[in-house]
Amino acid sequence: MSAVRLPDRERDTIHIIGQGLAGSMLALLLMEADYKVHVHDDEYQTSSSVVAAGMWNPLSFVNLKLSWMGHEMVSSLEAIYPRFEKLLGASFFHPMPLARIFPDAGSTNLWEERCDNPSLKPFMSDDSISDIDSNFLQPHGHGVVQHCGWLDIPTFLYAARKYFEAHTCYSAHAVSIGEQQHWLDQGDWVIQCTGWKKLSDDFGVDLPLIANKGQVYTLEIPGLDERYMSNFGRFTIPLGNNLFRVGSTYEHRPLDPLPSPAAQQILEDVLQTVKHPYDVRELKAGYRPTTIDRFPIVGLNQRHERLGIFTGFGSRGVIAVPWCASHFVEHLTQGSPLLPEVNWQRFQWRKKMG
Ligand SMILES: Cc1cc2nc3c(=O)[nH]c(=O)nc-3n(C[C@H](O)[C@H](O)[C@H](O)COP(=O)(O)OP(=O)(O)OC[C@H]3O[C@@H](n4cnc5c(N)ncnc54)[C@H](O)[C@@H]3O)c2cc1C
Repeated sequence: MSAVRLPDRERDTIHIIGQGLAGSMLALLLMEADYKVHVHDDEYQTSSSVVAAGMWNPLSFVNLKLSWMGHEMVSSLEAIYPRFEKLLGASFFHPMPLARIFPDAGSTNLWEERCDNPSLKPFMSDDSISDIDSNFLQPHGHGVVQHCGWLDIPTFLYAARKYFEAHTCYSAHAVSIGEQQHWLDQGDWVIQCTGWKKLSDDFGVDLPLIANKGQVYTLEIPGLDERYMSNFGRFTIPLGNNLFRVGSTYEHRPLDPLPSPAAQQILEDVLQTVKHPYDVRELKAGYRPTTIDRFPIVGLNQRHERLGIFTGFGSRGVIAVPWCASHFVEHLTQGSPLLPEVNWQRFQWRKKMG
């Protein structure tokens, strides 16, 4: 048995700071396990979750491999999001296949080779999509990825917020370091789920959280097939009524929420590959909370055992948050060990001086 202190269901409140995808998921899982939570959010309109396209896909197209913990993460999300759709009375989970349009002959060959790999088989289909030629230019063909889809994150967040409000456990305000300290002093717990915005430096190390700017369009593309998502270096996600989310950019500068010229390249790529004309309906920009090793940052502080952190989901929040939140809830409530890949303590070598 672990000697660490665990939250007490009757006595302790777990304050979740940030109601993005990470904070909402953690709060809902803790409430489901009968813990008292209180969620706080500053309702910043360009948070990563509000802007995100919402796609999940367990394959990495760089080397055509399953992403880290791909099997576990897909099983977790396929169980949790539909369960929360029922709980919250809202529809936001949209599983759908993804057509990977190969950029060159090498990618086609690699796909054929990997189709026989037993661990990839559930995710790669030999089937081809009928009529795809009238929608996309695809001289090297395409493959179909299974167990993917898109999450309507704003609908999920709105429904979760209504649920927290109905349980009188939601406050709209920016939490200060002083408030966090006050909750800790009175014996409560605090989990920082603040995305790219670090609330404090309490962990005694320089946690390498990096804001990465992304832009995503909503385009109206009449005639484009709405049965599947596509990836041709850019992605298209059918939202219904001829609307498609199309993106996205990865920018280190400038860090402002304004559209930048990098977004124009998305439209040029669409023109080259999609065989239907489009109209621009919207362009949104936000910041992904990324880390230097591309793994999330999870865990409890050593200096203050009731202070935790849950962030760093980069461009993979939709697939990674349900599994990581379940993993963290087990750690918090049962004292089970965290995987070293996600544990913030892997950054101990970045100790702060003084
Ligand atoms: C353009 C773009 C496209 C993306 N596309 C995808 C995609 O297709 N698939 C995918 O999986 N991921 C995608 N992402 C990434 C995804 O958005 C993130 O992984 C995920 O949403 C991060 O969620 P989070 O809750 O950790 O952070 P956030 O969404 O940033 O949430 C943090 C919350 O904390 C609040 N907050 C911060 N400080 C305080 C404070 N002091 N007090 C109170 N509240 C505070 C913020 O306002 C915010 O509401 C995309 C991101 C961008 C920018």
